[in-house]
Amino acid sequence: MTETCDFLIIGGGSSGCIVAKRLAERTHGRIILLEAGKSDEGDPAATDLNRLDEQTADYDWGFRAATLPGRPAELGYARARLLGGCANHNDCAFIRPPDSDFDLWESLGATGWNAKALAPAYARILERVTVETAPCHPLSRAFLDAGRELGLPDVNFAREVRSGVGLFPLNARGSLRQSSSIAYLHPLDRLPPHLEVRTRSMAQRILCDGRQAVGAETDHGIILARRGVILACGAIQTPQLMMVSGFGPAAELRRHGIPVIADLPHLGQHLRDHVAAPVVWETRAPVAPWEICPFEATMMLSLDADAPAPDILFHFGLRVREKYGDDPRLGTSGPAVKASPNVTRARSEGEIRLSGPAMTDKPIISLNYFSDPYDLPLLLRAMRFTRRIGETAAMRAVTAAEVHPGPQVHSDDEWSAYIRSVCETVYHPCGTAAIGRVVSPDLGVMGIDGLHVVDASVFPSLITVNINSAVMMVAERAADLIAQS
Ligand SMILES: Cc1cc2nc3c(=O)[nH]c(=O)nc-3n(C[C@H](O)[C@H](O)[C@H](O)COP(=O)(O)OP(=O)(O)OC[C@H]3O[C@@H](n4cnc5c(N)ncnc54)[C@H](O)[C@@H]3O)c2cc1C
Repeated sequence: MTETCDFLIIGGGSSGCIVAKRLAERTHGRIILLEAGKSDEGDPAATDLNRLDEQTADYDWGFRAATLPGRPAELGYARARLLGGCANHNDCAFIRPPDSDFDLWESLGATGWNAKALAPAYARILERVTVETAPCHPLSRAFLDAGRELGLPDVNFAREVRSGVGLFPLNARGSLRQSSSIAYLHPLDRLPPHLEVRTRSMAQRILCDGRQAVGAETDHGIILARRGVILACGAIQTPQLMMVSGFGPAAELRRHGIPVIADLPHLGQHLRDHVAAPVVWETRAPVAPWEICPFEATMMLSLDADAPAPDILFHFGLRVREKYGDDPRLGTSGPAVKASPNVTRARSEGEIRLSGPAMTDKPIISLNYFSDPYDLPLLLRAMRFTRRIGETAAMRAVTAAEVHPGPQVHSDDEWSAYIRSVCETVYHPCGTAAIGRVVSPDLGVMGIDGLHVVDASVFPSLITVNINSAVMMVAERAADLIAQS
C-alpha cells in the first residue's frame, strides 16, 4: 500500500508529538505522526507517574549499552516504545536549562540557538505543561536537611539553576504526567482532521529520490511525504534509522551492505550522556510509600568555582532497585535509599553503531564513560561529598549504614575503581546528529533535501539539567523553522 501526506513525522515521543501538534496549527496539509509503540491514551501505566512499575517489557525497546570501552553491554538502557516516548517512561524531573547551556550551543555553531532565541519556546511549553513539585517524603526531607547542614542554600529550581538544595520541579499535574502526548495531543479523537496519529507502526527505512527524502517504508506500507520527512525517534534510533537508510559513516554502512546515499561521518558519533554513580545507605526503618515519584529531592553543586553553571546534579532515590538498570552489585539486605551525583556537562563521547542492516537489529550502544579526563575526577569529588551527606546528623537520624561503596573505600584509587564498576546512566543520550555536524541550524540534514531531525540527537552539547525540557524546546523551535521552510 502506498499513501501520500505532506509531512511525515517518525517517532511519537517528546519531540515528535510537539512538532506534529504545532505543524498542524501552522499548516493545512496532511500530517502523519508515526509511532512504533502503542498509544498511551487511557493507559494508567503510561500516564500515571506513580504507576511506572506497571509498565511491562513491551513498553521498552530493551536496548543494552556498554559503559566503558572493552566492557560487554552490561547496562539496561531504557528507551520507551509508546506514544509520548521516554516522557511516559521517566521520572518527570523538569528544570529549565540555564542560559549558559544554549549560549554554548550557539558558540559551537548552532547559529540562532542561543538562550534569548529559545525563551519563547519555553514560554509556549508552559502554556500547555503543568510543572509542580511532589509532597516531600520524610527521607527526601532528611536529604535536603543534610545539604543545608553542609552549607547549601535552598533553591527554587523551577526558577533558577544554581548550587543548592530543593525539590525537583516535575512535569506532572498531581501524578498525571505532562508528557508531550498528554499535554499536546490528548484527547486523540479531537485532533484536527489533517493530523493523524498512527501507533503500532514502525518506519523501517527512509526513502530518497537522489538526494531528496520522499517518504518512508513502514511495516504497513509506503508513506510518501510531499513537504518533508521529520525524524523524532530519539538519540539512539534516529541515527539508526538514518544509517539503515544509507546516511552515515560510509565505512559503517558498507560493512552492513547498505548503499551509501550520503557520507555523514559524525552521524551516531559524539553520543553524550549524564554519567552517575550511587552511594547507598540502609535505612533505620522501611521506606514509607512516596506519593508521586521516588525521585523528589535534588542538590546541585559547583565544585569548580569557574564553571558557568553547577557541574554536579544529584538524584536522591527512595527506590534503590530501579526497574531499569537493575544492578545486582548494588543489592542491600534491608530497605535503602541512594544519592547519585552526575556530571552535568560530562565530556566523554560514545557512539551508536549498527549490529545489522535493519531497524529490527538492535543498535550497538557504547557510552565510553570516562574516556574524557574531565569526568572521573569530578565525579570522584562528588562521591566524597556524597559520603559527607551520609555523615550529617539529618541523614544519620534515618540511615543505619553506608552499604555501597561501604567504609572500606577511602583512597582515590578505591573510589575510582568503585565508580568505574557501578557507573550508571541518567538515560539522557543526545548529540548523535548534532547541529553543526549532521544537521544545519535549520535542522535539515546536511546535503539532503526534505529531511529534518528534531529530537535529542541534535544537541550540540550536553546540558546541565535533565534533558526533557530542552528536547521540548528544540521541538517547539523546530516546528517554527519547518513551517517557515
Ligand atoms: C528511564 C528514563 C528516565 C528519564 N528521566 C528523565 C527525567 O526525569 N527528566 C528528564 O528531563 N528526562 C528524563 N529522561 C530523558 C527524557 O525523557 C528523554 O531525553 C526525552 O523524552 C527524549 O525525547 P525524544 O523525542 O528525543 O525521544 P523519545 O521520547 O524517546 O521518542 C522517540 C519515539 O520514537 C519511537 N520510535 C523509535 N524508532 C521508531 C521507528 N523506526 N518508527 C516509529 N517510531 C519509532 C519510539 O518508540 C519513541 O516513542 C529519562 C529517560 C528515561 C528512559
